Amino acid sequence: MDSRWKNAEARDYVARYLDQGINEDVALRVYTTRLLGSDPRLVLHGGGNTSVKTSVPDQLGDPTEVLCVKGSGWDMGHIEPAGLPAVRMDVLLRLRSFDTLSDEDMVSIQRSALIDPASPNPSVETLLHAFLPHKFVDHTHSTAVLALTDQPDGDAICAEVYGGRAALVPYVMPGFGLAKLAADVQAANPDVEGLILLKHGIFSFGETAEEAYSRMVALVSLAEDRIENAGKMTFKAVALPKTLPVEEVAPILRGAVAECLNDNDDVWRRQILAFRTSEAIRNFVDGEDVARYSQQGVVTPDHTIRTKEGPVVMPVPTDQDAFKKGAIDAVSAFVAAYHDYFARHNGKRGGEKTELDPMPRVALVPGVGIFGMGASAKAAAIAADITENMIDVVTDAEAIGQFQPVSEADLFDVEYWSLEQAKLGKGIEKPLARQVVVVTGGAGGIGAATAQAFAAQGAEVAILDRDDAGARRTAGEIGGAALGFGCDVVDPQQISRAFAQVCSAFGGVDVVVSNAGAAWQGRIGEVSDAELRASFELNFFAHQGIAQEATRIMLAQGTGGCLLFNTSKQAINPGPDFGPYGLPKAATLFLMRQYALDYGDAGIRTGAVNPDRVNTGIFADGLLEQRAQARGLTPEQYLRSGNLLNREVKAGDVARAFVDLALARKSTGAVMTVDGGNIAAALR
Ligand code: ZN
Repeated sequence: MDSRWKNAEARDYVARYLDQGINEDVALRVYTTRLLGSDPRLVLHGGGNTSVKTSVPDQLGDPTEVLCVKGSGWDMGHIEPAGLPAVRMDVLLRLRSFDTLSDEDMVSIQRSALIDPASPNPSVETLLHAFLPHKFVDHTHSTAVLALTDQPDGDAICAEVYGGRAALVPYVMPGFGLAKLAADVQAANPDVEGLILLKHGIFSFGETAEEAYSRMVALVSLAEDRIENAGKMTFKAVALPKTLPVEEVAPILRGAVAECLNDNDDVWRRQILAFRTSEAIRNFVDGEDVARYSQQGVVTPDHTIRTKEGPVVMPVPTDQDAFKKGAIDAVSAFVAAYHDYFARHNGKRGGEKTELDPMPRVALVPGVGIFGMGASAKAAAIAADITENMIDVVTDAEAIGQFQPVSEADLFDVEYWSLEQAKLGKGIEKPLARQVVVVTGGAGGIGAATAQAFAAQGAEVAILDRDDAGARRTAGEIGGAALGFGCDVVDPQQISRAFAQVCSAFGGVDVVVSNAGAAWQGRIGEVSDAELRASFELNFFAHQGIAQEATRIMLAQGTGGCLLFNTSKQAINPGPDFGPYGLPKAATLFLMRQYALDYGDAGIRTGAVNPDRVNTGIFADGLLEQRAQARGLTPEQYLRSGNLLNREVKAGDVARAFVDLALARKSTGAVMTVDGGNIAAALR
């Protein structure tokens, strides 16, 4: 790898941060931390850490010797000075003489030594940084270094590659013990430029930010050269038949990794999926020997938190029914093995740990690619990123020799680390977390408000609209993983494509809000056949197209689902000269009931929201004035005073009704009226 250090850039950092009262040491620490953190071959998602020993004023203004070290919750690629909390060096150095120190005590002492008590927790590798004598210390989980060290004879390979330039530290779990051991190894080899932590990663150090950084580049380059010499690895591939497309594989897989926690109350622990494929991924997952090299463990221990000890290998998906059965069997075997793994190691650790959810976080699908999985699209993407990284390491490791990371017992200690166990049960998920919601007509008005409302309850949302730019805009406003794209719901092919896109992005669909619609006016005896049919296309057949496609996916998942429709008041209480709009809406109300009846046994619920007089796009182009006139009211009266409560009904009120129906686990075939009160349109 090449150095990305630039003197001019370094000077810019120093000047910029000086203006904010940040000293040169910390400014340069931010600079090279970002250089390291923005390279996925070195650092991924919160992995790795850096530090600098410097002097800063304490709360009273007295200069104090501190270690500014990466805080938890910060990514190196986007670090700021606030992500490098300052910890008193005198306190940290006193711990060097301790014989033992529990992780809980270590964290508590480190917190008590923070200059700013509001800082994030300093990294669990803080003491390792503190005990090394160098001013700048850099730590990464370099892919190339891991490929060398994750071998049965990784220590011999590293010794040969690094000679006297880096010393080797045997594997010990991060914490006080590793900090002491690494410091001892460095003290015995005072001239080395870095340390190779076997089966974990690499440290480099120096007296300046540039020195520590350029040593990291040089040491990692040695590993890269060694891999290059071994030649590119191509796994012997099995001959694969034609496989199902990803949009058909994903919902089946998503169903297989969902766990029903309470059947009567319809409580599921679903996962969101993130799909990836590439030449390197296919080389790996299509390999004849994938069941061996993919099951050896993770490349560096803290990845277990994101991916468990390894992926589940799926059967080749050639036929829907056979794949469903094979996927369920593979997941059951994974879960059974996970229970065994937990029992085996928990027994040896005093039996005091709480077992985590046993479902896999990564699936390998031969002929298709990989799926990261998790409680959110973000968690799934992280699991997928880490797996892509794992594939690189394992592929290179197999080119050199054979991939063999830390032992299962060591992985267990990291996955069941006491500080992680202490967090269990403390984070409460939002009510619609782990669910995928599709909203049609989501570019504005009720649809946009509905997408916002579902996202606020934790759901992953996909917004479909004829207005592609508008759908993207709404998704952008929601942020996170929200998706928006163009789809004209009167075109069945566009519906199929849109749902395929949602399944590829999130793995499936749990809730659909079929909201897209438009109003047609005209006296029913005079309306043209063409106009009436056009209204039926959008206000009835499009709802059927959406519901049909969603139902097919929900059945493939086998975890129930919810179909919601915007039927409008016209479905129940026709307005004068509004037949072309009300008739298809009335049919859609019955469509909703028919789905309730036909798919209730599959756990698919339905519901309709019946809003009235919501001032959104549907009233554009003078329609508001015309409808008010038809009722003998002014537009103002029509909107605000036309109901029993005398309140204007807003898009957000309708959105909340859709969310309420999605959460009403024992209701199906139900209609919720959102009109401020209109007895003529009231249902039983
Ligand atoms: Zn590490």
